[in-house]
Amino acid sequence: GYDERRVAKDDRKMLPIYAYRDELLKLVEENQVLVIVGETGSGKTTQIPQYLQEAGYTKRGKIGCTQPRRVAAMSVASRVAQELGVKLGHQVGYSIRFEDCTSEKTVIKYMTDGMLLRELLIEPKLDSYSVIIVDEAHERTLSTDILFGLVKDLAKARPDLRLIISSATLEAKKFSEYFDSARIYMIPGRRYPVEKLFQRCPEPARLETAVRTVFQIHQREPLGDVLVFLTGQEEIETAETKLKERMKDLGSKSSEIIICPIYSNLPTELQAKVFDPAPKGTRKVVLATNIAETSLTIEGIRYVVDPGYCKINSYNPKTGMESLLETPISKASAEQRAGRSGRTGPGKCFRLYNVKDLEPTTIPEVQRANLASVVLTLKSLGIDDVFNFDFMDPPPEKSLMKALELLYALGALDGKSDITKLGERMVEFPVDPMLSKMIVGSEKYKCSAEVITIAAMLSTGSSIFYRPSRNQQYLADNARMSFYTDNAGDHIALLRVYNSWKEMNYSSQWCYENYIQSKSMRRARDIREQLAGLLKRIGVELTSNSEDLDAVKKAILAGFFPHSAKLQKDGSYRRVREPQTVYVHPSSGLFGASPKKWLVYHELVLTTKEYMRHTTEMKPEWLVEIAPHYYKLKDIEETRTKKNQS
Ligand code: ADP
Ligand code: MG
Repeated sequence: GYDERRVAKDDRKMLPIYAYRDELLKLVEENQVLVIVGETGSGKTTQIPQYLQEAGYTKRGKIGCTQPRRVAAMSVASRVAQELGVKLGHQVGYSIRFEDCTSEKTVIKYMTDGMLLRELLIEPKLDSYSVIIVDEAHERTLSTDILFGLVKDLAKARPDLRLIISSATLEAKKFSEYFDSARIYMIPGRRYPVEKLFQRCPEPARLETAVRTVFQIHQREPLGDVLVFLTGQEEIETAETKLKERMKDLGSKSSEIIICPIYSNLPTELQAKVFDPAPKGTRKVVLATNIAETSLTIEGIRYVVDPGYCKINSYNPKTGMESLLETPISKASAEQRAGRSGRTGPGKCFRLYNVKDLEPTTIPEVQRANLASVVLTLKSLGIDDVFNFDFMDPPPEKSLMKALELLYALGALDGKSDITKLGERMVEFPVDPMLSKMIVGSEKYKCSAEVITIAAMLSTGSSIFYRPSRNQQYLADNARMSFYTDNAGDHIALLRVYNSWKEMNYSSQWCYENYIQSKSMRRARDIREQLAGLLKRIGVELTSNSEDLDAVKKAILAGFFPHSAKLQKDGSYRRVREPQTVYVHPSSGLFGASPKKWLVYHELVLTTKEYMRHTTEMKPEWLVEIAPHYYKLKDIEETRTKKNQS
């Protein structure tokens, strides 16, 4: 209503950035590229696009603002829509993978950096935009780094385009230098002193210690909310359970704790809860991933508990192995995290590590990621010489080589390293090259209907099977194993889950009875619809071949043959091409079953060992049938030498 809107307007004037509004607008007018640095919470993300709109920039085109994280894009868009009193998706919207919440009317568009990269494929000069804000630039995600190079170039071709690089930490100089000495503008922030306390904690006891620390804060410290940094959904869920158990022990003597989880796959309707102020006399405990480090500002935090770890993507170009890795944060991150407790008053940060042991900054993702997907995007954009791309920090040559090799093996690039027809078709799908090859390749095996179901089930980002408490584990396992008849493997089980659900008219009751997460299923259905639409666009008919599971497996292998592995005497597996030892993930239906001689896996997860997550049986003859060229990499290496000489 009217009142709400006015409150929001006053709130806007309270933000540190408000005092610099006019100066900022003047600088944007005078400088094509501007680097803006400001404390987290100063109002960069939510206010700058609104100021630009007020100044008339949306008359010439949209204002696009990128975010490294999906949740951040959704959350800030919804906040800005609320501040403007408009419906989300109309004037203000967001676009994330598999979810487009924008319309013809949208003039302020928040999106993930990956989505802007995809928009460049359709609109190479971004003509419908008047301003591009690359926000959270300090995060240096792979997509952000690629965007840097592309928008820098674009600025030259489009003198009318305005470019803002916005960042939380003080890497401003580096950004400025890269953008040909762009003007830097610092927004002075408010910050209160933060007391940093160090608590010794052996690594395996990380979670336990974090929970105990929250509990101690609750018993000893004055009211004020707590923010705990954890590595992901799994840790957050465990911590939530442990905290609830402890609170039960405490009984009604102490004041109430309200636990708010926030991570990227948290269902949308629960995300907003984290911003609700704690009711009087209660304490909010926010269990968050890295997302709360700089992307989202949560008011009222007075205590931070920081175990000092985060999950990063790690790729080893030598072995071609990519896994999610829990790793210590950097000093810069530690500072940011501590700062979250000193936004509205003096704060306290409980560190479960010694800050002296940390590296100064995090290595940019481009230097530790699998580059296959971005290399294919660059090739599709007509950037042939990826080795000479204007990277802010260049990746190891070996990683680029590996990416080219993989794309060649998949058939997306030809012997001259040029993009093929198949490659162009693969680019249509907003998924990794192996997955898009599996989808496009399904045409040949006449099982595209099955394959997009599997692809969708693999792309929900959260688990399909529900993990119940210990005493129900047995029932859940039984329910799950019913999808594994003939030991066919995880991909096939996912297909069966989806088809059974469909047969039951997409019933949530059915999900509940079978220990299936109905939210993940609805998301899979939504993704599947979009994949079907994309298949149609590239002219592939949706055909079903449900009787022939071998056809489905072959299509999987057509994309994932580099992920094939052979059983060893000791029960472990050895990768076929780059011989590394890997293991069946305990979450797999094939775990503990009579072992299959040959497997193809979807991805690796590194914990104590390299585990294959989502595995399915295959045959070595198929490997030869599908990838006869895979061992002939000479062509591509020759291309590389030629390019070096020219
Ligand atoms: P910055 O980008 O400089 O870190 P933001 O523009 O994200 O700052 O945040 C400015 C203010 O808006 C913060 O005080 C934050 O609490 C508030 N805010 C942002 N998003 C939301 C949201 N979804 N709900 C409630 N408040 C929000
Ligand atoms: Mg921000």
